[in-house]
Amino acid sequence: MLQEMSSLPKSKRDPSPASSVPVPTLIRRLADTHHLSKDEYRQLIDGRTPRAAQMLAEEAVRQREAIYGKDVFTRGLIEISNICKNDCLYCGIRRSNSSCERYRLTPERILACAREGRELGFRTFVLQGGEDPWFTDERLCGIIRQIKGLCPDCAVTLSMGERSRESYRVLREAGADRYLLRHETADKIHYGKLHPTEMSYDNRMRCLKDLRDLGYQVGCGFMVGSPYQTVAELAEDLAFIEAFHPEMCGIGPFIPHHDTPFKDEPAGDLDLTLYLLSIIRLIWPPVLLPATTALGTINPRGRELGILAGANVVMPNLSPVDVRKQYELYDNKICTGEESAQCRGCLEQRIASVGYCLVTDRGDVRRKGFVS
Ligand code: SAH
Repeated sequence: MLQEMSSLPKSKRDPSPASSVPVPTLIRRLADTHHLSKDEYRQLIDGRTPRAAQMLAEEAVRQREAIYGKDVFTRGLIEISNICKNDCLYCGIRRSNSSCERYRLTPERILACAREGRELGFRTFVLQGGEDPWFTDERLCGIIRQIKGLCPDCAVTLSMGERSRESYRVLREAGADRYLLRHETADKIHYGKLHPTEMSYDNRMRCLKDLRDLGYQVGCGFMVGSPYQTVAELAEDLAFIEAFHPEMCGIGPFIPHHDTPFKDEPAGDLDLTLYLLSIIRLIWPPVLLPATTALGTINPRGRELGILAGANVVMPNLSPVDVRKQYELYDNKICTGEESAQCRGCLEQRIASVGYCLVTDRGDVRRKGFVS
């Protein structure tokens, strides 16, 4: 490590350990250079105070507005299946949850959701689901082509978990523009504590790299307050985001689900999530940063607070109302009872209530002037 450091030009070396650096100095440096060392990220999280949170949020909002103005982008979320071959310890739709009532939307129903979404003004659809083997490349490609046929100016985002490079390649060829695959944690040991042995950190990272190579706009992300997470793991996550520069980054609080091994674990903290949203905005100002449903679940104004901390995306639910309750990743998930139009209207009002404007264009990343 020492050798590695000394081979870097002096200007690229991380400054000496941050223990002596006051938090406001770290925040100013992050805002100016978009870089801190892992140790400094740790210091910044450890030094969290209401004053520091306010300073970070103000700077995050300023930098976001310089790129995106008052616009908040919207993505229509279609939860296409809760059947999953994986057994992630935190997730309510994990394979071993025998109390979960399973469903899968037919291609016709998925298309009907997209059609309704298009009429409501959506120009981005996110197809999300468990790792359901029924969704072969051939079937998914057919669905992507049909959505693109219906709505050529729409972006199609997939969030269907880990697949082979070849699979990602053909899906991209069929028209998929973006892929969301949270890295979940950038610490390999921590990853092992959240997932069964047949899943691996290395494969997750391989997927993210393949997606990037294939020309997708890629989204990574993690849960705040997942079991065994400490400030050290969060600092790893931030360093990873700094190195990867994802087009999107989904973070939200961990929330326990009553039928999982983590049922008695506490939920993630609202203020810490907001603090991290601001930091991520400053690490990579062009990033598309959703104010997630999980954030809205732990606090009734969570998503509005997320926008005020630096987020700029919301993802209203377009899934058919009769299956929404079954896509239960965690307890008390919001937005499971309303029609799509209501969901959209509700979010529009919430965004307006904090002085922002829900816009309907594709909401592509604007990296002008920023080099990754
Ligand atoms: N199968 C897809 C989609 C997973 S669900 C994939 O692997 O990417 C989308 C995200 O929900 C997950 O990446 C995870 O970060 C989040 N999630 C799952 N269980 C959760 C819980 N209990 N609390 C908060 N977020 C959760």
